Amino acid sequence: MTAYSTGRCLCGGVTYQVNGPLREVWACHCAQCRQTSGNFVAATNARRADLVFLSDATLTWFPSSGTAERGFCQRCGGNLFWRRTAPDNQTISIMAGTLDPPTGLKLAAHIFTAGKSDYYDIADGAPQHAAWGT
Ligand SMILES: [Zn+2]
Ligand SMILES: [Zn+2]
Repeated sequence: MTAYSTGRCLCGGVTYQVNGPLREVWACHCAQCRQTSGNFVAATNARRADLVFLSDATLTWFPSSGTAERGFCQRCGGNLFWRRTAPDNQTISIMAGTLDPPTGLKLAAHIFTAGKSDYYDIADGAPQHAAWGT
C-alpha cells in the first residue's frame, strides 16, 4: 500500500496525486473496459477526498452506464478514472498504468471475466470472478 502517489496521462493535461491508501489492483475484463481502453483495464481505488488534481485541463467525463462515468484525457485519449455517480459514493477507481511507478501495488484479482475477449488467457494465478469480486 502506498500512502502518497502521483500519476498522469500521456500528455500531462491530467496530472494528479493521491494523499491516501490505494487498494490492490483489480483487472476488469468487461465490455465497457475493453471498448474504452482497447484491452482489459487494471485499476486501483482511492477515496475521492484523497485525490487532488495538479492539472485537470483536459479531463473529460463520459457517462459509460446509468450508474457510472469514466474520466479520460480529451487530448491524448488517456483512460484514467472510473467512478459511480451515486451522490454518496466516496471512492474513485484509478487506472493503475497512469500511476508513476513504483506503485508498490499488486494485481490481486480479475473481475467480470465473463466479459473477456478471446485473444488472451488469464494465467497469473490471481482469483477470477465472473462479475464483481466481492
Ligand atoms: Zn492527456
Ligand atoms: Zn470493466
